[in-house]
Amino acid sequence: MSNKNKLVIANWKMNLNKTSVADLAFKLGSDLSISESVKVVVCPSFIWLGTVINTLADTGLDVGSQNICEFDIGAYTGEVSAQMVSDIGCKYSIIGHSERRHIYKERDEVVIRKTELALKYGLIPIVCVGESLEQRESNISEDIITNQLFMLKNVFDKIIIAYEPVWAIGTGHSATTEQVYQMHHFINDYVLKNSQATPPILYGGSVNSKNSLELSKINSVDGFLVGGASLKFDDFQEIVNVY
Ligand code: PEP
Repeated sequence: MSNKNKLVIANWKMNLNKTSVADLAFKLGSDLSISESVKVVVCPSFIWLGTVINTLADTGLDVGSQNICEFDIGAYTGEVSAQMVSDIGCKYSIIGHSERRHIYKERDEVVIRKTELALKYGLIPIVCVGESLEQRESNISEDIITNQLFMLKNVFDKIIIAYEPVWAIGTGHSATTEQVYQMHHFINDYVLKNSQATPPILYGGSVNSKNSLELSKINSVDGFLVGGASLKFDDFQEIVNVY
């Protein structure tokens, strides 16, 4: 795990093209100012991993994938394995992002399989957990998070957890500091009751240059997973600057 105590992860999702990905990676590598305590990880689409890894070599920024296959190797047409991601030079992999859980129906059993494969190949899994709006409104957020965390109990010491309420992702409406505080404490308590580990717990969900300072003041927030705002250099720089 990184010796930096704050993490800011850029999730570029299925955005950018050959030119814009190269431009943004180059600008991050040459111009992004980062305080000593912060580790920045960039997660481009699989197809741009090689370009971004080469561009960011020796810059101190690390690269991660947005996903990996739930199987190790073999006849899985169109998939990309943990070993391939590791081979190309990634250090991290986002696993169980809500877009994977909801659009591609990834269940907790798949999330743990992917997490174990990531660990097998030396990747640090950034495992996303979070409740939907309907679940929050039905007052079952903690039950949902408990189910998502249950499977991960044995690997709490090897992963990064990202609390990402589904209703806050890509909506422009971040969770309030009170909501983040409450859920981070719930996750922390669950981890402590079930292990000796103290994994970093990130917040993700419409983090931007305007709300990042306030969110960073919550002491249980160890950093951010940033989608939309990581696509613009200036916005991302402002987010990284809060630490
Ligand atoms: C994400 O992709 O994990 C995310 C939090 O997206 P956004 O910042 O756009 O809400």
